[in-house]
Order: sequence, then C-alpha cells, then structure tokens
Amino acid sequence: MQEENCIFCKIANGEIPSKSIYEDEEFRVILDLGPAAKGHALILPKSHYANLFELPEETAKKVIVLAKKLGNQMMDKLHADGFNLMQNNGEAAGQTVFHFHMHLIPRYKDDNQKIQWVPGKPTGEELEEIQKQIIY
Ligand code: 5GP
Ligand code: ZN
Repeated sequence: MQEENCIFCKIANGEIPSKSIYEDEEFRVILDLGPAAKGHALILPKSHYANLFELPEETAKKVIVLAKKLGNQMMDKLHADGFNLMQNNGEAAGQTVFHFHMHLIPRYKDDNQKIQWVPGKPTGEELEEIQKQIIY
C-alpha cells in the first residue's frame, strides 16, 4: 500500500524518477541524492511502512539479505574499503523521510566522513539498571 504525499512511495513505484541500481516486485534501491560517500544507496520497500517497527518481519528479513548482496557488489565494483548499514527511526534518531529505508554506505579510506557518536561513561550500576529495564 502506498501513502499519499510520500516521496519514497512515489520513487519506489517509479512515479518519480531516480537512479535505480536494483528493482524487484517488493523493492527498489536508489542512489541517495545527498550521499555520505560514493555509491551511497537506499533500499526502499514499494509498500509504505513508516519505520522498522511497522515493517513486517518477512520484509525485514529480505532487506538484510538484499543489503548483503548489494553490499558485496558495491565493495567489489567501487573498490570500497568498508561498508556501513544505517537505518534511522524517528526524528530523534535522525530520520527525515518517514518511509522505511536502509542506507547502504560504501566507505573509503580517504572519504573523510564520520558516522560516529560521543561515547558515554556509565557506571556499572547504571548499566545494570538499564539492563533490568530492557532485558528481553
Ligand atoms: P534519513 O535521514 O531519513 O535516514 O535519510 C533520508 C535520506 O534520503 C537522506 O540521505 C537524503 O539524502 C535522501 N533523500 C531525501 N530525498 C531524496 C530524494 O528525493 N531522492 C533521493 N534519491 N534521495 C533522497
Ligand atoms: Zn511511503
């Protein structure tokens, strides 16, 4: 199902042109218009899911398999030195387009990009408290 006014629904279903590098019945993979590095691509499901939590499990499994296949191809063809998978959920996490997408980011020794965070310094007790809260 598509959602009205969703740009990634329109791109994934070919209503708005994009530089596709892969397409099947369920997905389109496009080059990001604001790439972090050469070859940065986005896996888009053709159906609308706002984020990971809306994505059906079967679709989620296919996303990771596709990421592995295309990642291999990118590493090989672009002579990349490393590879980041990234996927943002919610504004607080940096999501700007609210249609699920997985970032595929080939990395190069000299690409001068930083996908980093400032490490915190929790105490043992703090870690234990968090562990209790979220243990599954
Ligand atoms: P987010 O921040 O939501 O995880 O990532 C959104 C990504 O989509 C950004 O990397 C941005 O450059 C990319 N993007 C936004 N609009 C378009 C578009 O119209 N076409 C393409 N190809 N990429 C887009
Ligand atoms: Zn959508």
